[in-house]
This record gives sequence, structure tokens and C-alpha cells, in this order.
Amino acid sequence: MMTDITTIQMLKSKALTLDKNDPLAPFKQHFTLPENTIYLDGNSLGPLPKIAKKRAQEVVEQQWGEDLITSWNKHQWIKLPQQTGAKIAPLLGAAPENVIVCDSISVNLTKVLCAALAIQEHSHRLSQSKHASTETSSRTLVLSQKDNFPTDLYMVQGLSDLLGRARCELLSVDEQALIDTIKSRGHEIAVLILTQVNFRSGRVHDIKQLSELAQAHGILVVWDLAHSAGALELELDEWNVDFALGCTYKFLNGGPGAPAFIYAAKKHHHQIKQPVSGWMGHKRPFEFSHDYEPADALNSFLAGTPPVVSMSILDAALSVFDGISSSQLRQKSVALSTLFLEAFEYLIEDPKFKLVSPTNAEERGAQLAFSHPQSYAICQALIAKGVIADFRAPDILRFGFSPLFLSYKQMLEAIKCLQAIMQNKSYLLEEFQVKQAVT
Ligand SMILES: *Cc1c(COP(=O)(O)O)cnc(C)c1O
Repeated sequence: MMTDITTIQMLKSKALTLDKNDPLAPFKQHFTLPENTIYLDGNSLGPLPKIAKKRAQEVVEQQWGEDLITSWNKHQWIKLPQQTGAKIAPLLGAAPENVIVCDSISVNLTKVLCAALAIQEHSHRLSQSKHASTETSSRTLVLSQKDNFPTDLYMVQGLSDLLGRARCELLSVDEQALIDTIKSRGHEIAVLILTQVNFRSGRVHDIKQLSELAQAHGILVVWDLAHSAGALELELDEWNVDFALGCTYKFLNGGPGAPAFIYAAKKHHHQIKQPVSGWMGHKRPFEFSHDYEPADALNSFLAGTPPVVSMSILDAALSVFDGISSSQLRQKSVALSTLFLEAFEYLIEDPKFKLVSPTNAEERGAQLAFSHPQSYAICQALIAKGVIADFRAPDILRFGFSPLFLSYKQMLEAIKCLQAIMQNKSYLLEEFQVKQAVT
């Protein structure tokens, strides 16, 4: 095969030049990463920012240990949901007051979906009272795609069980059928809920275009940005998105189990109504009044006491993004995955590998997915060599290109490691074949 010295030299010098001209290269020093590790899984769990580690110690030892309950005021713990939301906002192309941090995507999805359904029911009632004679049917369908991240579909199903299909029913269709379904059944659809970057293939939806189309049919849009925030260029305010959700432990490096965020367009702030009406979402929680009265705007999405330790760590982790634009993040991750793919095509011979992600970098998120019958074992063999990727059932080997701590040189090293594993077939060793609980 043609993997001669010149090919390797060409790739090496390319990587070297890219590294030399990389404006984000200095950000690597903000992270604690183990030696001899190429971390291609920042899309599942971002690594530890040094400043987050420092904050964790401070929160536990000083704020909790010494200042005890006074910290709610003294260290403004009570403001963490808004403060962390405001720090995420620039990466979403959102005004700071349009983002809040709380709970997980799963829980937030129920809250947001209920809020969106309530808005639709309200406007339906209004139109009925205006045109008392013409019976309009209310919208009950929640449209999504079949290979959306499962939790998104599960949460709609759970809500449908609770409310009954007459008020909420999941309609999940193949990706290719989305546009036609919006056009043909738009009048029945209350909410379109989609994930921008498909978690397996990495294929990206055009948020602006799909939102416009859905809204033209009277549908509200909810975007799951789990694999977008911190990696893709986003302009939620400008794109007129209704609602969005995302997690903070992936590209935002907020730490394991860090809470999620909710985005809501300003035009909806006055009418957010959701059923997880806990005391932290009350207008005046410390009056301890008998009756629930929702807080203003996004604060009404809050339910219980915020996870202070986790949110403080997230708050510190987000400060690493200070002054970085989402377009810089996108540019670098595109360049990383492009070089990775180029090296893959030159150096990996096994014909059983199939690229599942779009070849065109503009059409995929910050990841590359390949299918291979031995994906799981290959992934384990890579991890044993310090190249950390992940496996997604049934047969996908997935690589994430987090822009703040990876170098171009590492792309080449990772592929050389994969090449060695494929050549010596070390993935066939029994130790790499046994599946663990979390994959
Ligand atoms: C990771 C991920 C989630 C995670 O949801 P949680 O409830 O926060 O665990 C949700 N949606 C998508 C698309 C994801 O990739």
C-alpha cells in the first residue's frame, strides 16, 4: 500500500503547520489530562479544567466547611443557576437572561415540553374564542426523529402516558421524512423536538432552516444541543429558536453529572408554565407562602435546591471559554476531524471500516463515527494504548474532537495507534472482547 514515508511526512508537516498557527493551542494548559493520553471523548465527558479543580476545593473546604449556610448569600450560591446560564449564553448566541442551568436534559425536556404544549393550548383557546363558529383542532403531536437520543423520545412517551394521547402524542419518523411530515401534518403538530447533532452519525441539522419551516406551520421548536454547545456555531436568538436544551458535561467540561441548561426565547418568557413547580421556581421562595406563584421568565423552570458543588465546578469550568467565540471552536474542531479523516483514509486499510458520518465536515458535528463489526474491541484496544474513544451500540466507534485541548499532532498519533492495532490484530485479545457496564 501507499503508506510510504512521503505520505507520513506530508501528514506530519501538515499537522505541524496547523499546530503552529492554532490560536486555541494555549488553552490546553488550562486542563489536567493524564500523560500519554489522546482524549477523543470530550464529547461524552469533558476533561478537568485546572480552575474547576481549584474551585471544587474552595467550595468544599472554605465555602461549605467554614462558611456553612451563610454561603448562600456570602458566596452567592443562590445565583448559580442564572450565573452559569449567563456564561453559557454567548456560546449559544443568546442574551444572558435567555439561559438558565438546572437539572438534567431529561428532566428539563419534560418541563420545556409542557411549557410549549401550554403555549399551543393557550393560543388554540384564543383562536377558538375569536372564531367561535369555526372549530379548529388543537395540536397534539410532538414530532421527532426515530434515531434521536433515546432519552428525548422516552421523556415524550412518559409525558404522553401522563397527559393522554389526546393532549400529547409522540410521532417519530425517519430523518428523511421530517420535512414532508411537517408539510403534510403541520397543523396537527404542537412541537418539533430534534437533536442538532445526531449522537451516532454526527449528522447536523440546519436549525435555522428547520425552525423556520416548522414555525411557518405554527409549530414550536425545541432543540437538544447536547453535542453542540461548546463545539458548534450557534445563534439561537437570531435563528428565532423557541426553546433549547443541552448538557454541560460534554464539550463544556462541567464535570460528571453537571447540570443541564435551558434556553427560552424572550417572546415566551411571560408565558412559561410547567408542572414541576418547586419552591425554587416560586416568585418569592423565602416567603414560604401557601400557593405557588411562578417566578419571572426562566426562573420558573427551577424546581428544587441547586446542586451547589457541581454548579460551582461548572461555573469555574465555563470561565475557560471567556472571550472564545463559538465560530473559533467550530473552526478548530472541523480542522481536527478533517486531518483525522485524511490520515485515516491514508493509513487504515481494513475495508470493514465504514464512515457513518458525513464526509463533508460542514454536515457533521465535532465527531467522526465509523462502523466495524469489531468496534467494541478496537475501542478497548485503543484505550489500552492511551487513545480514548468510545463505542456506541450496535457497532460504532466514535471519536470526538473537542477544540480546546487537542492538537493536530495528536490526530496523526491516534491514527498511527489505530493502524498498529489493526495490523497486529491485538483487538482480538480476550481482554478487549468483554463488554463492561458503561460503554
Ligand atoms: C448526552 C445526551 C443527553 C443526556 O441527557 P441527561 O438527561 O442530561 O443525562 C440528552 N440528549 C442527547 C442528545 C445527548 O447526547
